[in-house]
Amino acid sequence: MMKKYELAVIPGDGIGKEVVPAAVKVLQTAATLHGGIQLETTEFPWGCDYYLKHGKMMSDDGLEQLKNFDALFLGAVGDPNKVPDHISLWGLLIHIRREFEQTINIRPAKLFKGLTSPLVNPGPFNFLVIRENSEGEYSESGGRIHKGEDEIAIQNAIFTRKATERVMDYAFKQAVLRKGHVTSATKSNGIVHSMPFWDEVFNDVSKCYTGVRTSSVHIDALAAFFVTKPSDFDVIVASNLFGDILTDIGGAIMGSIGIAPAGNININGKYPSMFEPVHGSAPDIYGKGIANPIGQIWTASLMLDHLGEAALAREVLRAMEEVTEAGIKTKDIGGNATTDEVTNKICLQLQNNI
Ligand code: ATP
Ligand code: MG
Repeated sequence: MMKKYELAVIPGDGIGKEVVPAAVKVLQTAATLHGGIQLETTEFPWGCDYYLKHGKMMSDDGLEQLKNFDALFLGAVGDPNKVPDHISLWGLLIHIRREFEQTINIRPAKLFKGLTSPLVNPGPFNFLVIRENSEGEYSESGGRIHKGEDEIAIQNAIFTRKATERVMDYAFKQAVLRKGHVTSATKSNGIVHSMPFWDEVFNDVSKCYTGVRTSSVHIDALAAFFVTKPSDFDVIVASNLFGDILTDIGGAIMGSIGIAPAGNININGKYPSMFEPVHGSAPDIYGKGIANPIGQIWTASLMLDHLGEAALAREVLRAMEEVTEAGIKTKDIGGNATTDEVTNKICLQLQNNI
């Protein structure tokens, strides 16, 4: 039986316009070889060019147009020389994330064969950071009072039981599918209200997953362990701020921002999830054909996995790793191949493997 997935594709700005077509090519190659999957893509021309013509980042009924897709596949948004970042981000990316209740952010990190980590002795790390994406330290609650030397700034962190349970539960579910270990990023020795609550919910949820091993590590020590022994970790669950910091370390130790993938997950199934690489629009290299397509292609693999096509997702990942191992790499990871050369080689590798 043929399974059909409808994907909304938003290349966006800068190198998004180069790496998204590359990743769609890989996706279509994989689907054709699989034989039982049909990917129907619809492209939306939203982003900064659209803004310069229409005065908005996406059309007014944009969410309406997107809401029935199975997933959203996004490149990068931003053209800081022409459109201020707060307009481009809030007008598209954050707008979609919020309205589609994409409350969880997932970012895997793995040492690929053929890639060089800045760590001297990284070990074969392969972990997944699950970050709460909707509340926590990044809240609008707070303010400033008094002036001059008495001035006070107050920033409240909001942790709801609902969102905390939701992110923990998602992390445990992922651990069951992986190596069965969840590490919670905490700081209950210094942050005395929200973090003890975070620990409590972590313990409560863990009781539903008795086969999963748990650790609770303070964020400062955890950040250090990401550098000294990243291969100790499987799934890490973290608040919005802690997750933000940890995922940047995760990206850095893989060797280039050009390879790191991410997903914004809607877990109630009411709206589609959105998949986008960690890197931005990279205006400095746009148009040269040298952007690394791996981040976007790995992101495509995450999307396949989320859609329930885990085996095909693994094939894409494997083909990618075989190509980097063979030394076919873009400049950012020490090679001299073009975006197209890497992409075509990955497609060829899929044809050999499937
Ligand atoms: P953001 O849009 O998140 O603010 P940024 O402007 O901080 O992003 P990027 O656009 O990700 O940063 O670019 C940072 C640096 O990494 C740039 O020098 C860019 O050329 C490089 N870079 C980013 N993505 C890639 C890629 N896919 N391939 C090669 N180099 C990349
Ligand atoms: Mg930028």
